[in-house]
Amino acid sequence: MEDKLKELKDELLFTQKNAAVERSDEQVAIADAYAEDYKKFLDAAKTERLAVKEAIRLAEANGFVPFDRAKALKAGDKVYVNNRGKALILAVICTRPLTDGVSIAAAHVDSPRLDLKPNPLYEKAGMAYFDTHYYGGIKKYLYATVPLALYGVVTRKDGSTVEIAIGDKEGDPVFVVTDLLIHLSREQMQKPATSVVSGENLDILIGSRPFDHSKESDAIKLNIMKILNDRYGITETDFLSAELEAVPAGQAKDVGFDRSLIGGYGHDDRVCSYPALTALFALENPAFTAITLLCDKEEIGSDGATGTQGNFFPYFMEDLAEAMGVKARHVYPQSLCLSADVNSAYDPLYASAYSEQNSSFINRGVVLTKYTGSGGKGGSNDASAEVMGVFRRIMDAGDVIWQIGELGAVDAGGGGTVAKYIAQLDVDTVDLGVPVLSMHAPFEVISKLDLDETHRAFFALLDRK
Ligand SMILES: [Zn+2]
Repeated sequence: MEDKLKELKDELLFTQKNAAVERSDEQVAIADAYAEDYKKFLDAAKTERLAVKEAIRLAEANGFVPFDRAKALKAGDKVYVNNRGKALILAVICTRPLTDGVSIAAAHVDSPRLDLKPNPLYEKAGMAYFDTHYYGGIKKYLYATVPLALYGVVTRKDGSTVEIAIGDKEGDPVFVVTDLLIHLSREQMQKPATSVVSGENLDILIGSRPFDHSKESDAIKLNIMKILNDRYGITETDFLSAELEAVPAGQAKDVGFDRSLIGGYGHDDRVCSYPALTALFALENPAFTAITLLCDKEEIGSDGATGTQGNFFPYFMEDLAEAMGVKARHVYPQSLCLSADVNSAYDPLYASAYSEQNSSFINRGVVLTKYTGSGGKGGSNDASAEVMGVFRRIMDAGDVIWQIGELGAVDAGGGGTVAKYIAQLDVDTVDLGVPVLSMHAPFEVISKLDLDETHRAFFALLDRK
């Protein structure tokens, strides 16, 4: 009787796999080794620009060359398109007609952070500051008292551009947003969390000594500008044509006695971008033309020339189709896309925010998400049953440990991804990603095994037969 029950259970009920249980010691060792490479990528890719730079470096080492519209494409070609240094398309061309469809792995490389305002430098009470405007959804108070590094570019009056990277190299200074001491916080502690630290208070402390011991007003500000001018050849006006991003300083770290997790800044969404790259690099003669798309601006709505709502991806597809003598719109309907973005891992400390049976869990593998959105699936791609069915079979064929997961409980909040922008090109698209703890915090946490399953998932899609 008991055997019969177990048999029926196995046959009829959904059994969730757990990678930490199912994967062999050898497989875990491979996942751990892969995680070491990922940590290096994360450390090298603190901003969208640096992520694209590092992705191109890796792509070129794997035989990819810039896409040249004037040259004919043939099976086996590996090409990439760099969109303004902030977004990237990479493709491996196959023998099959393009009208059979392509496989697309999409992810984003921008992460929440503090951007400097166009006129950021000021002096107050004997200290110098950078005024900032936060980028993306953050709990603002989490950015206070965290060591920050500064990255970005400044375009000078003459049109030349200088890169800035300070705060992560050995011996570099860091920067910080200060917070009010607890002793005087009686009023602050009564405020709602949204205004404990206001957006306008997210200003970064950058110095305190005046130029030449001067008592003049703005001598501290002048001293900072002199240091920046000596080092980067810039003046205060040049901040107007700059993109400078303050991000948490420090390297990605193993978390836990068992080192099973990785903590770091910017897992969202570089933890999907990296496997989308490595799966493409691992392909040998894919049956379908395989494309990895890394985009910018996802955290603020995917707008602009480097966001997925921009036209750079459909334009590339048109060029690709033209080179093969077909129309791009005849390629899209047969194509498949995994739109990869992180999902919220179930956190038992905040259980009420989740619907447990429909949440993703650490170590249960890559998350397939039918719909995202908020307020009744608003702004979601909401993949169809048939499309979910197709992807489920691809995952199973690729021996991928996967789970399903909504972002959280109904009406607990919500969020969107780039899935809908790719789907609206007439491409069957499903959301997929790595479960993350503390999403959008300065130090997010993911599981090494989930990362490995995500690489497997992308490979299963891009290498589908
Ligand atoms: Zn994301």
